[in-house]
Amino acid sequence: MPTKKLLTGHKNHQNIFQDNKEQFLNLAKKGQKPKVLWIGCSDSRVIPNHIMGAEAGEIFVHRNIANIIPPSDSNEKCTWSVIEYAINVLNVRHIVICGHSECGGIKGLLNYSEDSTNSAIFNWLQYAAVAKEKVLSNVTNQSEQYIETVKENVLLQKEHLLSYDIIRSKYDSGDLSIHTWLYDLHTGQIKRYQAGKAEWVNLI
Ligand SMILES: [Zn+2]
Repeated sequence: MPTKKLLTGHKNHQNIFQDNKEQFLNLAKKGQKPKVLWIGCSDSRVIPNHIMGAEAGEIFVHRNIANIIPPSDSNEKCTWSVIEYAINVLNVRHIVICGHSECGGIKGLLNYSEDSTNSAIFNWLQYAAVAKEKVLSNVTNQSEQYIETVKENVLLQKEHLLSYDIIRSKYDSGDLSIHTWLYDLHTGQIKRYQAGKAEWVNLI
């Protein structure tokens, strides 16, 4: 049963719907035409429409634990099916991969115990394991290892995304942009990875 607050929230939405009926009915009649696919974490604090100020119909969204994109040679097809639809049906030309600070998935990746190796989460997080290994072998300061793994994981998932032929082809021809972002829960700010300088800079 949803909490009372959510039920009140839905009541408010019905009022908003009535006040903006033409806009909402256009979405229903004409279909969606989002320009951006957002691949983010399931974390309840990182809500793409909130942090981007987007309306219904603007962002096509896939969220899972630790914003992971299993590579093309994996048997996981859930994430890929969303991407395939966004590319082939919606003709989306921008894909955002957004990690975030305080990500429980990445904390789990760094702290898992041998007892957890049979869990679904443990197996899922293995798609981020290369990021962890890279950070642990390059970053000796333990206090920096966590956030560096969050960042490295975003870049790793871009590599996974590019393992799909159609993505690689569209990316190389300039028909598709891939944005690697990091949302900071402490500041509400997004940083983007600037490949030329190999550093994370404020999005705006
Ligand atoms: Zn997360």
